[in-house]
Amino acid sequence: MDKKKLSAVMEDTREILREHPLCDNCLGRMFAGKLGVVSHKRIGSKIRNMLKQRPPKTCYICKNMMSNLDSTLKKMIEMAKEYQFSTFLIGAILQPSIHDRDDVIRSKFKLRGITSIKSDITREMGKSFSRKTRAKVDYQNPDLVFTIDFKKEYYEIKPKAILLQARYTKNVRGLPQKQKSCDQCEGKGCFVCNFHGIREFESVEGKIAKFLIEKFGAQQAKVTWIGSEDESSLVTGNGRPFFVKLVNPHKRGIPLSKKIDLEGISVHGMRTITKIPSDPVRFRTNVSMEIEAENEIMPDTLKELTRLKGRHVVLYENSGRKHKKTIYSIKFKIESDKSFRIMMESDGGLPLKRFVAGQEVEPSISEILETNCMCKLFDFNKITVTK
Ligand SMILES: [Zn+2]
Ligand SMILES: [Zn+2]
Repeated sequence: MDKKKLSAVMEDTREILREHPLCDNCLGRMFAGKLGVVSHKRIGSKIRNMLKQRPPKTCYICKNMMSNLDSTLKKMIEMAKEYQFSTFLIGAILQPSIHDRDDVIRSKFKLRGITSIKSDITREMGKSFSRKTRAKVDYQNPDLVFTIDFKKEYYEIKPKAILLQARYTKNVRGLPQKQKSCDQCEGKGCFVCNFHGIREFESVEGKIAKFLIEKFGAQQAKVTWIGSEDESSLVTGNGRPFFVKLVNPHKRGIPLSKKIDLEGISVHGMRTITKIPSDPVRFRTNVSMEIEAENEIMPDTLKELTRLKGRHVVLYENSGRKHKKTIYSIKFKIESDKSFRIMMESDGGLPLKRFVAGQEVEPSISEILETNCMCKLFDFNKITVTK
């Protein structure tokens, strides 16, 4: 250590301590940068020993908070017990008066480039917590974030959400895709729904949510769908893609099987991802539709449907907006005089029942066949993400 610098520091210290008693941490912090040392406490205590001074009863700046961080550490370890994590970050909120007193010393004694007491606390806490738990501090993307409010003596722990991607196939009819939100909280989470945001688990969403909530000890599973289907629809082939955000997970790094069977649905290829796409995902669907016509239809008339191949279908929305969807291929199969089946590949998001009936859709199956048609059932055979 530079002797010249140290003796200058000793002079300054003598002057500061004459008016303001400081603990080793706060004292060391004032000069650590200047002397190029890392440990505030150690250098503080060294300077004090050289000056042959005793530690003060109460530190002017922190009122002994720095030397009483053990209880905070204990509390943090206790809170973190129920979570799996390998990285963390600590944030602190201090009494404004601590910052004020810190500023008084800095300006009175013209001290520059000093670590703030807040950074010092979070750094010290981080080091101790890391030693106890073997987890590492991560500023970018920590598994756990602690907020310690010294002002209100309030501690908060927030685990990072887990993001997942997968596909599901649905092998039974009569299972709705989406789950109704809890009517008490509208999905936010309350005591009534045990903070899950949903109260029942009788849907594709419910089954996936229940599985993941249990598996990861999560509070909520928020699903983002790529397209939608009817309660009566089957989803076969490669399945429908979806994303899940698991809120407040207690466990992480759980191994997931390639195929997970959940009574009526199977989840395929579930894996964690770093981001759920914010832009709409473009996709194509291969569907099979069962259609009934009001009047008898001649096979030759049905052939007219093949004209739709390669054409745009325009959807007119109530909002006044228009959407275009392309039909890539279309085939039909006669079932009876008044019923037939269509196998079709089109852009995703084409409302199939409206397309058949001709509600604000141009052209439509009913329009081409010149009779009112109704889609009784539609199944998804393949869903392809195109972007
Ligand atoms: Zn102090
Ligand atoms: Zn609720």
